[in-house]
Amino acid sequence: MDTEQFRKYGYEFVDWIADYMEKVEQLPVRSEVLPGEIKKQLPHAPPQQGEPMAQIFSDFQQIIMPGITHWQHPCWFAYFPANNSPASVLAEMLTAGMGAQAMVWQTSPAATELEEVVMEWLRQMLGLPEEMEGVIQDTASTSTLCALLTARETATGFMANEEGMRQPLVVYASTEGHSSIDKAVKIAGYGKKNLRHIPTDENYAMIPEKLEEAIKNDVAAGLIPACVVASVGTTSSTAVDPVRKIGEICRRHNVWLHVDAAFSGTAAIAEENRWMLDGAEYIDSFVFNPHKWMLTNFDCSAYFVRDTEKLIRTFEIHPEYLKTGADKEVKNFRDWGIQLGRRFRALKLWFVIRSYGVEGIRQMVNEHLRLARLFKEWIEEEKHFEVLAPVHVSLVVFRLNNGAAEDELDSLNRLLLEKVNATGEVFLTHTSLGGRYAIRMAIGQRTTQEHHVREAWDIIRAKAAETL
Ligand SMILES: *Cc1c(COP(=O)(O)O)cnc(C)c1O
Repeated sequence: MDTEQFRKYGYEFVDWIADYMEKVEQLPVRSEVLPGEIKKQLPHAPPQQGEPMAQIFSDFQQIIMPGITHWQHPCWFAYFPANNSPASVLAEMLTAGMGAQAMVWQTSPAATELEEVVMEWLRQMLGLPEEMEGVIQDTASTSTLCALLTARETATGFMANEEGMRQPLVVYASTEGHSSIDKAVKIAGYGKKNLRHIPTDENYAMIPEKLEEAIKNDVAAGLIPACVVASVGTTSSTAVDPVRKIGEICRRHNVWLHVDAAFSGTAAIAEENRWMLDGAEYIDSFVFNPHKWMLTNFDCSAYFVRDTEKLIRTFEIHPEYLKTGADKEVKNFRDWGIQLGRRFRALKLWFVIRSYGVEGIRQMVNEHLRLARLFKEWIEEEKHFEVLAPVHVSLVVFRLNNGAAEDELDSLNRLLLEKVNATGEVFLTHTSLGGRYAIRMAIGQRTTQEHHVREAWDIIRAKAAETL
Protein backbone atom coordinates (compact mmCIF):
# COMPACT_ATOMS: atom_id res chain seq x y z
CA MET A 1 0.00 0.00 0.00
CA ASP A 2 1.43 3.37 -0.97
CA THR A 3 0.88 6.58 0.99
CA GLU A 4 -1.87 7.73 -1.39
CA GLN A 5 -3.82 4.55 -0.65
CA PHE A 6 -3.03 4.97 3.03
CA ARG A 7 -4.46 8.48 2.95
CA LYS A 8 -7.63 7.31 1.23
CA TYR A 9 -8.29 4.50 3.69
CA GLY A 10 -7.09 6.59 6.63
CA TYR A 11 -9.81 9.17 5.97
CA GLU A 12 -12.34 6.44 5.37
CA PHE A 13 -11.49 4.67 8.61
CA VAL A 14 -11.70 7.86 10.64
CA ASP A 15 -15.15 8.41 9.16
CA TRP A 16 -16.01 4.84 10.05
CA ILE A 17 -14.86 5.34 13.67
CA ALA A 18 -16.81 8.61 13.96
CA ASP A 19 -19.93 6.87 12.61
CA TYR A 20 -19.35 4.02 15.05
CA MET A 21 -19.18 6.46 17.96
CA GLU A 22 -22.48 7.98 16.86
CA LYS A 23 -24.26 4.72 16.12
CA VAL A 24 -22.89 2.24 18.63
CA GLU A 25 -25.96 2.88 20.75
CA GLN A 26 -28.14 1.16 18.15
CA LEU A 27 -26.17 -2.10 18.27
CA PRO A 28 -26.80 -4.96 20.74
CA VAL A 29 -24.36 -4.30 23.58
CA ARG A 30 -23.17 -7.89 23.88
CA SER A 31 -22.16 -9.74 20.74
CA GLU A 32 -24.81 -12.29 19.82
CA VAL A 33 -22.59 -14.75 17.94
CA LEU A 34 -22.27 -18.38 18.98
CA PRO A 35 -18.94 -20.03 19.82
CA GLY A 36 -16.99 -20.79 16.63
CA GLU A 37 -19.21 -18.63 14.43
CA ILE A 38 -16.49 -16.10 13.58
CA LYS A 39 -13.71 -18.65 13.13
CA LYS A 40 -15.64 -20.72 10.64
CA GLN A 41 -15.93 -17.71 8.32
CA LEU A 42 -12.15 -17.25 8.22
CA PRO A 43 -9.69 -19.22 6.08
CA HIS A 44 -7.58 -21.74 7.93
CA ALA A 45 -4.39 -20.80 6.06
CA PRO A 46 -2.96 -17.30 5.48
CA PRO A 47 -3.24 -15.72 2.02
CA GLN A 48 -0.14 -16.24 -0.12
CA GLN A 49 -0.69 -13.03 -2.07
CA GLY A 50 -1.56 -9.64 -0.66
CA GLU A 51 -5.25 -8.74 -0.79
CA PRO A 52 -6.80 -5.35 -1.56
CA MET A 53 -7.64 -3.19 1.44
CA ALA A 54 -11.21 -2.80 0.19
CA GLN A 55 -11.68 -6.56 0.58
CA ILE A 56 -10.03 -6.66 4.01
CA PHE A 57 -12.10 -3.74 5.27
CA SER A 58 -15.28 -5.27 3.92
CA ASP A 59 -14.54 -8.55 5.75
CA PHE A 60 -13.83 -6.57 8.89
CA GLN A 61 -17.31 -5.11 8.69
CA GLN A 62 -19.08 -8.31 7.66
CA ILE A 63 -17.24 -10.92 9.71
CA ILE A 64 -15.53 -9.23 12.63
CA MET A 65 -18.02 -6.55 13.71
CA PRO A 66 -20.85 -8.99 14.57
CA GLY A 67 -18.43 -10.64 16.98
CA ILE A 68 -17.64 -7.42 18.83
CA THR A 69 -19.10 -6.64 22.24
CA HIS A 70 -19.53 -2.90 22.46
CA TRP A 71 -17.64 -1.60 25.45
CA GLN A 72 -18.21 1.97 24.26
CA HIS A 73 -22.01 1.54 24.25
CA PRO A 74 -23.72 3.99 26.63
CA CYS A 75 -25.65 1.06 28.13
CA TRP A 76 -22.44 -0.79 29.01
CA PHE A 77 -22.89 -1.69 32.68
CA ALA A 78 -20.93 -4.97 32.74
CA TYR A 79 -17.66 -5.84 34.54
CA PHE A 80 -16.00 -2.45 34.67
CA PRO A 81 -15.90 0.29 32.09
CA ALA A 82 -12.97 0.52 29.68
CA ASN A 83 -13.95 3.86 28.28
CA ASN A 84 -12.07 5.63 25.52
CA SER A 85 -12.42 9.11 24.06
CA PRO A 86 -11.87 10.81 20.71
CA ALA A 87 -8.68 12.46 22.01
CA SER A 88 -7.28 9.13 23.11
CA VAL A 89 -8.10 7.37 19.84
CA LEU A 90 -6.47 10.14 17.82
CA ALA A 91 -3.33 9.96 19.95
CA GLU A 92 -3.25 6.18 19.54
CA MET A 93 -3.28 6.71 15.79
CA LEU A 94 -0.23 8.93 16.02
CA THR A 95 1.50 6.41 18.29
CA ALA A 96 0.91 3.64 15.77
CA GLY A 97 2.01 5.93 12.95
CA MET A 98 5.35 6.71 14.62
CA GLY A 99 5.83 3.13 15.75
CA ALA A 100 8.45 4.27 18.26
CA GLN A 101 9.75 2.17 21.13
CA ALA A 102 9.90 3.57 24.65
CA MET A 103 12.25 1.00 26.19
CA VAL A 104 15.06 3.40 27.10
CA TRP A 105 15.49 7.16 26.93
CA GLN A 106 17.55 7.07 23.75
CA THR A 107 14.98 5.02 21.84
CA SER A 108 12.72 8.12 21.98
CA PRO A 109 13.62 10.76 24.55
CA ALA A 110 10.18 12.39 24.29
CA ALA A 111 8.42 9.13 25.14
CA THR A 112 10.36 8.77 28.39
CA GLU A 113 10.18 12.41 29.42
CA LEU A 114 6.50 12.77 28.56
CA GLU A 115 5.81 9.63 30.60
CA GLU A 116 7.57 11.22 33.59
CA VAL A 117 5.51 14.38 33.19
CA VAL A 118 2.08 12.80 32.77
CA MET A 119 2.70 10.40 35.66
CA GLU A 120 3.54 13.39 37.85
CA TRP A 121 0.32 15.05 36.66
CA LEU A 122 -1.63 11.92 37.60
CA ARG A 123 0.04 11.80 41.01
CA GLN A 124 -1.13 15.34 41.67
CA MET A 125 -4.59 14.61 40.30
CA LEU A 126 -5.06 11.75 42.78
CA GLY A 127 -3.38 13.52 45.69
CA LEU A 128 -0.76 10.79 46.16
CA PRO A 129 2.31 11.60 48.29
CA GLU A 130 4.98 13.77 46.65
CA GLU A 131 7.70 11.14 47.01
CA MET A 132 5.87 8.76 44.70
CA GLU A 133 6.97 8.37 41.10
CA GLY A 134 5.10 6.65 38.34
CA VAL A 135 5.55 4.43 35.33
CA ILE A 136 2.99 3.19 32.83
CA GLN A 137 2.41 -0.57 32.72
CA ASP A 138 0.12 -2.50 30.41
CA THR A 139 -2.37 -3.65 33.04
CA ALA A 140 -3.05 -3.68 36.77
CA SER A 141 -2.17 -7.38 36.74
CA THR A 142 1.36 -6.52 35.61
CA SER A 143 1.61 -3.63 38.09
CA THR A 144 0.64 -5.94 40.94
CA LEU A 145 3.13 -8.54 39.76
CA CYS A 146 5.84 -5.83 39.78
CA ALA A 147 4.82 -4.95 43.34
CA LEU A 148 5.04 -8.57 44.47
CA LEU A 149 8.44 -8.99 42.82
CA THR A 150 9.80 -5.82 44.43
CA ALA A 151 8.35 -6.87 47.79
CA ARG A 152 10.03 -10.26 47.38
CA GLU A 153 13.40 -8.67 46.72
CA THR A 154 12.99 -6.17 49.55
CA ALA A 155 12.08 -8.92 52.02
CA THR A 156 15.12 -11.02 51.06
CA GLY A 157 17.62 -8.15 50.95
CA PHE A 158 17.66 -8.47 47.14
CA MET A 159 18.90 -12.03 47.41
CA ALA A 160 15.95 -13.89 45.88
CA ASN A 161 17.10 -12.75 42.43
CA GLU A 162 20.56 -14.13 43.10
CA GLU A 163 19.96 -17.31 45.04
CA GLY A 164 16.25 -17.99 45.23
CA MET A 165 14.22 -17.72 48.41
CA ARG A 166 15.73 -19.25 51.49
CA GLN A 167 12.66 -18.95 53.67
CA PRO A 168 9.02 -18.90 52.62
CA LEU A 169 7.67 -15.38 52.13
CA VAL A 170 4.01 -14.59 52.70
CA VAL A 171 1.53 -12.35 50.86
CA TYR A 172 -1.74 -11.06 52.36
CA ALA A 173 -4.90 -9.85 50.65
CA SER A 174 -8.55 -9.85 51.61
CA THR A 175 -10.89 -12.63 50.56
CA GLU A 176 -12.29 -10.07 48.11
CA GLY A 177 -8.90 -9.29 46.52
CA HIS A 178 -8.64 -9.50 42.74
CA SER A 179 -7.57 -12.75 41.05
CA SER A 180 -4.53 -10.93 39.63
CA ILE A 181 -3.05 -11.19 43.15
CA ASP A 182 -3.37 -14.99 43.10
CA LYS A 183 -1.80 -15.01 39.65
CA ALA A 184 1.10 -12.76 40.71
CA VAL A 185 1.71 -14.98 43.75
CA LYS A 186 2.02 -17.95 41.41
CA ILE A 187 4.31 -16.19 38.93
CA ALA A 188 6.54 -14.50 41.51
CA GLY A 189 7.32 -17.82 43.14
CA TYR A 190 5.71 -17.27 46.54
CA GLY A 191 3.63 -20.40 46.19
CA LYS A 192 -0.16 -20.41 46.49
CA LYS A 193 -0.01 -21.81 50.00
CA ASN A 194 1.78 -18.64 51.09
CA LEU A 195 -1.09 -16.35 50.13
CA ARG A 196 -3.32 -15.54 53.09
CA HIS A 197 -6.89 -14.50 52.38
CA ILE A 198 -7.80 -12.18 55.25
CA PRO A 199 -11.50 -12.10 56.24
CA THR A 200 -13.61 -9.04 55.53
CA ASP A 201 -16.22 -7.15 57.54
CA GLU A 202 -19.91 -6.70 56.73
CA ASN A 203 -18.92 -4.17 54.04
CA TYR A 204 -16.46 -6.60 52.40
CA ALA A 205 -13.42 -4.59 53.54
CA MET A 206 -10.37 -6.27 55.06
CA ILE A 207 -10.41 -6.53 58.87
CA PRO A 208 -7.05 -5.04 59.96
CA GLU A 209 -7.00 -6.96 63.27
CA LYS A 210 -7.26 -10.24 61.34
CA LEU A 211 -4.38 -9.13 59.15
CA GLU A 212 -2.14 -8.42 62.11
CA GLU A 213 -3.09 -11.73 63.69
CA ALA A 214 -2.11 -13.59 60.51
CA ILE A 215 1.19 -11.72 60.25
CA LYS A 216 2.04 -12.54 63.86
CA ASN A 217 1.19 -16.22 63.37
CA ASP A 218 3.41 -16.41 60.31
CA VAL A 219 6.32 -14.72 62.07
CA ALA A 220 5.93 -17.14 64.99
CA ALA A 221 6.04 -20.02 62.49
CA GLY A 222 9.33 -18.74 61.06
CA LEU A 223 7.89 -17.33 57.83
CA ILE A 224 8.59 -13.85 56.46
CA PRO A 225 5.62 -11.54 55.78
CA ALA A 226 6.60 -9.78 52.56
CA CYS A 227 3.61 -7.98 51.06
CA VAL A 228 0.09 -6.86 51.84
CA VAL A 229 -2.18 -6.03 48.92
CA ALA A 230 -4.97 -3.71 50.03
CA SER A 231 -7.86 -3.15 47.65
CA VAL A 232 -9.31 0.30 47.18
CA GLY A 233 -12.41 -0.68 45.30
CA THR A 234 -12.70 -4.46 45.06
CA THR A 235 -13.96 -6.02 41.87
CA SER A 236 -17.12 -7.54 43.28
CA SER A 237 -18.40 -4.53 45.20
CA THR A 238 -15.78 -1.69 45.23
CA ALA A 239 -15.19 -2.32 48.94
CA VAL A 240 -12.40 -0.16 50.35
CA ASP A 241 -9.84 -1.74 52.66
CA PRO A 242 -8.80 0.68 55.46
CA VAL A 243 -5.44 1.84 54.09
CA ARG A 244 -4.32 3.79 57.16
CA LYS A 245 -4.84 0.94 59.63
CA ILE A 246 -3.35 -1.58 57.24
CA GLY A 247 -0.43 0.79 56.60
CA GLU A 248 0.30 1.11 60.32
CA ILE A 249 0.41 -2.67 60.59
CA CYS A 250 2.72 -2.93 57.57
CA ARG A 251 5.02 -0.30 59.09
CA ARG A 252 5.14 -2.15 62.43
CA HIS A 253 6.04 -5.44 60.77
CA ASN A 254 8.18 -4.07 57.96
CA VAL A 255 5.94 -5.34 55.17
CA TRP A 256 5.52 -3.86 51.67
CA LEU A 257 2.09 -2.27 51.17
CA HIS A 258 0.70 -2.43 47.65
CA VAL A 259 -2.67 -0.81 46.92
CA ASP A 260 -4.83 -2.09 44.08
CA ALA A 261 -7.17 0.72 43.05
CA ALA A 262 -7.44 -0.41 39.42
CA PHE A 263 -10.98 0.82 38.90
CA SER A 264 -11.85 3.08 41.83
CA GLY A 265 -8.59 5.05 41.85
CA THR A 266 -9.97 7.40 39.22
CA ALA A 267 -12.63 8.52 41.71
CA ALA A 268 -9.90 10.13 43.84
CA ILE A 269 -9.65 12.85 41.18
CA ALA A 270 -12.81 14.20 42.81
CA GLU A 271 -11.72 15.43 46.23
CA GLU A 272 -14.80 14.17 48.04
CA ASN A 273 -13.51 10.64 47.36
CA ARG A 274 -10.02 11.19 48.76
CA TRP A 275 -11.04 9.47 52.00
CA MET A 276 -10.40 6.20 50.15
CA LEU A 277 -6.69 7.02 50.11
CA ASP A 278 -6.45 8.16 53.72
CA GLY A 279 -3.12 6.80 54.95
CA ALA A 280 -1.50 7.13 51.52
CA GLU A 281 1.79 8.02 53.23
CA TYR A 282 2.09 4.33 54.17
CA ILE A 283 1.70 3.05 50.62
CA ASP A 284 4.80 1.55 48.98
CA SER A 285 3.19 0.97 45.60
CA PHE A 286 -0.13 1.89 44.04
CA VAL A 287 -1.92 1.01 40.83
CA PHE A 288 -4.93 2.42 39.03
CA ASN A 289 -6.02 2.05 35.42
CA PRO A 290 -6.66 5.14 33.31
CA HIS A 291 -7.81 2.54 30.78
CA LYS A 292 -10.84 1.75 32.89
CA TRP A 293 -12.53 4.96 33.89
CA MET A 294 -10.31 7.77 32.66
CA LEU A 295 -11.10 8.09 28.97
CA THR A 296 -7.86 6.46 27.84
CA ASN A 297 -8.25 3.52 25.51
CA PHE A 298 -6.80 0.18 26.60
CA ASP A 299 -4.02 -0.35 27.58
CA CYS A 300 -2.72 2.11 30.16
CA SER A 301 -2.12 1.24 33.80
CA ALA A 302 -0.58 3.81 36.15
CA TYR A 303 1.86 2.32 38.65
CA PHE A 304 3.35 4.48 41.42
CA VAL A 305 6.17 3.59 43.78
CA ARG A 306 7.58 5.37 46.79
CA ASP A 307 11.10 3.92 46.74
CA THR A 308 11.96 3.67 43.07
CA GLU A 309 15.45 2.42 43.88
CA LYS A 310 13.93 -0.81 45.15
CA LEU A 311 11.83 -1.13 42.03
CA ILE A 312 14.83 -0.55 39.77
CA ARG A 313 17.08 -2.93 41.72
CA THR A 314 14.46 -5.60 41.18
CA PHE A 315 14.27 -5.20 37.42
CA GLU A 316 17.45 -3.57 36.13
CA ILE A 317 19.66 -5.22 33.55
CA HIS A 318 22.77 -3.86 31.89
CA PRO A 319 23.50 -5.66 28.65
CA GLU A 320 26.25 -4.00 26.65
CA TYR A 321 24.07 -3.42 23.60
CA LEU A 322 21.65 -1.25 25.60
CA LYS A 323 24.20 0.98 27.32
CA THR A 324 24.21 4.65 26.37
CA GLY A 325 26.18 7.70 27.48
CA ALA A 326 23.04 9.29 28.92
CA ASP A 327 22.20 6.47 31.36
CA LYS A 328 23.24 8.46 34.45
CA GLU A 329 21.09 11.48 33.63
CA VAL A 330 17.87 9.90 32.42
CA LYS A 331 15.26 7.30 33.24
CA ASN A 332 15.27 4.03 31.36
CA PHE A 333 11.82 2.63 31.93
CA ARG A 334 12.83 -0.88 30.85
CA ASP A 335 14.21 -1.08 34.41
CA TRP A 336 10.83 -0.16 35.94
CA GLY A 337 9.01 -3.32 34.98
CA ILE A 338 8.96 -6.58 33.08
CA GLN A 339 8.89 -5.49 29.45
CA LEU A 340 11.90 -4.35 27.49
CA GLY A 341 10.06 -3.07 24.43
CA ARG A 342 7.41 -0.63 25.56
CA ARG A 343 4.56 1.14 23.79
CA PHE A 344 4.48 4.94 23.83
CA ARG A 345 1.39 5.08 26.04
CA ALA A 346 2.11 8.46 27.60
CA LEU A 347 0.99 10.23 24.44
CA LYS A 348 -2.66 9.27 24.69
CA LEU A 349 -2.70 10.10 28.39
CA TRP A 350 -1.25 13.54 27.60
CA PHE A 351 -3.88 14.11 24.91
CA VAL A 352 -6.68 13.02 27.26
CA ILE A 353 -5.63 15.13 30.23
CA ARG A 354 -5.07 18.21 28.06
CA SER A 355 -8.20 17.74 26.05
CA TYR A 356 -10.54 17.33 29.04
CA GLY A 357 -8.58 19.15 31.71
CA VAL A 358 -8.65 17.82 35.26
CA GLU A 359 -11.99 19.59 35.64
CA GLY A 360 -13.52 17.77 32.67
CA ILE A 361 -12.45 14.39 34.02
CA ARG A 362 -13.71 15.29 37.48
CA GLN A 363 -17.09 16.26 36.02
CA MET A 364 -17.40 12.92 34.26
CA VAL A 365 -16.53 11.03 37.44
CA ASN A 366 -18.98 13.07 39.51
CA GLU A 367 -21.76 12.51 37.00
CA HIS A 368 -21.20 8.73 37.13
CA LEU A 369 -21.23 8.86 40.93
CA ARG A 370 -24.51 10.76 40.81
CA LEU A 371 -26.06 8.23 38.44
CA ALA A 372 -24.96 5.35 40.66
CA ARG A 373 -26.54 6.97 43.73
CA LEU A 374 -29.72 7.59 41.78
CA PHE A 375 -29.85 3.96 40.67
CA LYS A 376 -29.28 2.85 44.24
CA GLU A 377 -32.21 4.99 45.41
CA TRP A 378 -34.48 3.45 42.78
CA ILE A 379 -33.56 -0.02 43.99
CA GLU A 380 -34.10 0.88 47.62
CA GLU A 381 -37.55 2.24 46.83
CA GLU A 382 -38.60 -0.84 44.87
CA LYS A 383 -40.34 -3.74 46.55
CA HIS A 384 -38.51 -7.07 46.11
CA PHE A 385 -35.12 -5.51 45.38
CA GLU A 386 -32.17 -4.95 47.67
CA VAL A 387 -28.77 -3.28 47.52
CA LEU A 388 -26.09 -5.70 48.75
CA ALA A 389 -23.08 -3.47 49.41
CA PRO A 390 -22.26 0.17 50.11
CA VAL A 391 -22.06 2.28 46.95
CA HIS A 392 -18.63 3.91 47.28
CA VAL A 393 -18.14 4.89 43.69
CA SER A 394 -20.19 4.08 40.61
CA LEU A 395 -20.91 0.39 41.07
CA VAL A 396 -24.22 -0.80 42.51
CA VAL A 397 -24.50 -4.44 43.57
CA PHE A 398 -28.06 -5.64 44.03
CA ARG A 399 -30.49 -8.49 43.67
CA LEU A 400 -34.11 -9.37 43.43
CA ASN A 401 -35.32 -10.66 46.79
CA ASN A 402 -38.91 -11.76 47.19
CA GLY A 403 -38.19 -13.56 50.44
CA ALA A 404 -37.58 -16.98 48.88
CA ALA A 405 -34.89 -19.36 50.14
CA GLU A 406 -31.29 -18.45 49.33
CA ASP A 407 -30.66 -21.02 46.55
CA GLU A 408 -33.94 -20.13 45.00
CA LEU A 409 -32.91 -16.47 45.02
CA ASP A 410 -29.66 -17.38 43.31
CA SER A 411 -31.44 -19.06 40.41
CA LEU A 412 -34.07 -16.33 40.30
CA ASN A 413 -31.41 -13.64 39.89
CA ARG A 414 -29.46 -15.72 37.39
CA LEU A 415 -32.60 -16.01 35.31
CA LEU A 416 -33.33 -12.31 35.69
CA LEU A 417 -29.86 -11.35 34.47
CA GLU A 418 -30.16 -13.68 31.48
CA LYS A 419 -33.47 -12.11 30.51
CA VAL A 420 -32.11 -8.59 30.92
CA ASN A 421 -29.04 -9.26 28.79
CA ALA A 422 -31.02 -11.15 26.16
CA THR A 423 -32.75 -7.87 25.25
CA GLY A 424 -29.44 -6.69 23.78
CA GLU A 425 -30.32 -3.22 25.03
CA VAL A 426 -28.05 -3.29 28.08
CA PHE A 427 -25.29 -5.51 29.43
CA LEU A 428 -24.76 -6.24 33.14
CA THR A 429 -22.72 -8.99 34.79
CA HIS A 430 -22.85 -10.80 38.12
CA THR A 431 -20.70 -11.70 41.08
CA SER A 432 -20.91 -13.69 44.25
CA LEU A 433 -21.06 -11.60 47.39
CA GLY A 434 -21.21 -13.23 50.81
CA GLY A 435 -22.13 -16.47 49.03
CA ARG A 436 -25.07 -14.83 47.27
CA TYR A 437 -25.56 -14.41 43.53
CA ALA A 438 -25.53 -10.67 42.95
CA ILE A 439 -26.05 -8.44 39.91
CA ARG A 440 -23.54 -5.64 39.28
CA MET A 441 -24.45 -2.33 37.66
CA ALA A 442 -21.15 -0.62 36.80
CA ILE A 443 -21.58 2.90 35.49
CA GLY A 444 -18.60 4.53 33.78
CA GLN A 445 -19.05 4.80 30.06
CA ARG A 446 -18.15 8.26 28.73
CA THR A 447 -21.49 8.67 26.96
CA THR A 448 -23.78 7.19 29.62
CA GLN A 449 -26.53 9.59 30.61
CA GLU A 450 -29.37 9.46 33.08
CA HIS A 451 -31.84 8.19 30.48
CA HIS A 452 -29.59 5.19 29.77
CA VAL A 453 -29.53 4.27 33.45
CA ARG A 454 -33.29 4.77 33.57
CA GLU A 455 -33.71 2.49 30.55
CA ALA A 456 -31.65 -0.20 32.26
CA TRP A 457 -33.78 0.09 35.38
CA ASP A 458 -37.02 -0.13 33.37
CA ILE A 459 -35.76 -3.29 31.66
CA ILE A 460 -34.67 -4.82 34.96
CA ARG A 461 -38.03 -4.13 36.58
CA ALA A 462 -39.98 -5.44 33.59
CA LYS A 463 -37.92 -8.64 33.48
CA ALA A 464 -38.18 -9.05 37.24
CA ALA A 465 -41.97 -8.91 36.99
CA GLU A 466 -41.79 -11.63 34.29
CA THR A 467 -39.41 -13.72 36.39
CA LEU A 468 -41.61 -13.57 39.47
C1 LIG B 1 -9.87 -4.55 36.77
C2 LIG B 1 -9.15 -4.85 38.01
C3 LIG B 1 -7.94 -5.54 37.99
C4 LIG B 1 -7.33 -6.10 36.74
O1 LIG B 1 -6.97 -5.10 35.86
P1 LIG B 1 -6.17 -5.42 34.53
O2 LIG B 1 -5.65 -4.08 34.12
O3 LIG B 1 -7.14 -5.99 33.56
O4 LIG B 1 -5.09 -6.37 34.86
C5 LIG B 1 -7.29 -5.74 39.19
N1 LIG B 1 -7.81 -5.30 40.35
C6 LIG B 1 -8.97 -4.64 40.41
C7 LIG B 1 -9.50 -4.16 41.72
C8 LIG B 1 -9.68 -4.39 39.23
O5 LIG B 1 -10.82 -3.71 39.29
